[in-house]
Formats: sequence, C-alpha cells, structure tokens
Amino acid sequence: MENCIFCNIASGRTQARLIYQDEDIAAFKDLNPQAPTHILIIPVKHIASLSEAAEEDALLLGKIQLTAAKIAKELGIKDFRLVANNGKGAGQSVMHLHYHLMAGRRFLWPAG
Ligand code: AMP
Ligand code: ZN
Repeated sequence: MENCIFCNIASGRTQARLIYQDEDIAAFKDLNPQAPTHILIIPVKHIASLSEAAEEDALLLGKIQLTAAKIAKELGIKDFRLVANNGKGAGQSVMHLHYHLMAGRRFLWPAG
C-alpha cells in the first residue's frame, strides 16, 4: 500500500535496520527504542491492525509469533515481551500490523 511506512520498509523502498526478512515477514529495529532490544515484526502483506486480520491470515499470524521466538533465541534472549497495540486508543500509531519484540529491561505488569 502506498504511503504506508511499513509497506515501504517491507518492500525495501524505505531503509530500516533489518533483522530478518522472508517472503511473508520483515523484522527491523524500532526507530525509537523503548528497551535495549526493541524490534518490530510485521507481515509483508498490508493488514491495518489485528482487528483487520482474517481467517486466511491465521498461518501468517502464527508464523509471526514463531519468528519472534526464533529471533529472540538467535539473539540469546530468554525473557521478552511481544506486544501488538490495536487501535489508536491502545497506542497504535502506525496502521500496519506490527508486533513489538522487547527485551533487556524489567517490564511492569499490568502493562501501562
Ligand atoms: P505503535 O505505536 O504500536 O503503532 O508502534 C509504532 C512503532 O513504530 C513506534 O515504536 C515507532 O518508534 C516505530 N516506527 C515508526 N516509524 C518507524 C521507522 N521508519 N522505522 C522503525 N520504526 C519506526
Ligand atoms: Zn502497510
């Protein structure tokens, strides 16, 4: 989708500090990290938010979670938080589905 920053990153039109890429998924460092490790994991396909995902995306959503675990393992990270903000009211600022993989500090619960 044009004018979507994460579509542009996934297609290589916009540069990012890529951690992982395949035909379905891209992962790159967050521009404004909120933890020592802060990586965004996105589907290459434009899905605005988790609310917009469909049954046909089930495999893709599962693959994103498995990729998060794989990236963490490769980085030697045992404890991490995986977060998807869904909707502006929940803090979503980029309307292309993304999961925050965060690690390296203490996280509070419940999340703020
Ligand atoms: P959210 O607020 O959940 O929508 O998260 C959006 C995240 O995208 C924020 O943590 C931003 O720092 C990050 N972000 C926005 N633009 C870029 C970019 N061009 N490259 C990397 N991270 C970005
Ligand atoms: Zn997009």
